[in-house]
Amino acid sequence: MRYAVISDIHSNLEALTSFLEEIKALDIDKTVCLGDVVGYNANPNECVEIIRKNRIQCVMGNHDSRAAGLEGASDFNLLAANAVVWTMEALTPENAAFLRALPRSLHIDRKFLAIHGWVNNTDRYIMGVNDAGKNFELMRALDKQASVCFFGHTHVPLSYVESDGVIDAVAGASVKVEKGSSYLINPGALGQPRDRDPRASFAVFDTKKSLITFHRFEYDIHTTAGKILAAGLPERLAERLRLGW
Ligand code: ZN
Repeated sequence: MRYAVISDIHSNLEALTSFLEEIKALDIDKTVCLGDVVGYNANPNECVEIIRKNRIQCVMGNHDSRAAGLEGASDFNLLAANAVVWTMEALTPENAAFLRALPRSLHIDRKFLAIHGWVNNTDRYIMGVNDAGKNFELMRALDKQASVCFFGHTHVPLSYVESDGVIDAVAGASVKVEKGSSYLINPGALGQPRDRDPRASFAVFDTKKSLITFHRFEYDIHTTAGKILAAGLPERLAERLRLGW
């Protein structure tokens, strides 16, 4: 199987539709989404509807849970909270109900786990090898067989590899999945990259070849940024798309 793994779409319709075009040449069997379908950008309903229509398996992100009314946004920074309020008002009842029903984690075909933040917490960030170590333990507590887990939330593509009790953070174009090692993989963000590269980011997991590759592509940022301004969302949200930060 060849899986495309995406995360943090954040209501960015241009990035999501370009992604669907992009994977046509990649022989993808299934797309999996690691949450934050909405928040920050201006097309929440369109993005949720693409996920629903394409039956993309998806976990809940911290923005999804706030926008769907499951939790308050008092712990969000001002920019994010502003976008949550805007998104709550924009979402149709059907799309809000879809987000409310998303699971916090998924086992995908017994091949890998999908989460948003930490294995046991949607809101926490995996920020370094110590956090990765705790999440490798949580992975195994959830499923003894699990050796690959994809996570999102940081918006930065990065892999943590645990071999013989040592954890390394690896940034690069591909990761070979070996028996006896464990992997925490962040595909980067589709809709709001934060590694100073404005191109949309995703990963492909080829389970037959045991190979994970990272992919970037350009999309129409100009249109997305224009919609943010037209919607009355904070200008900074448009600017950060151009900076990839
Ligand atoms: Zn996010």
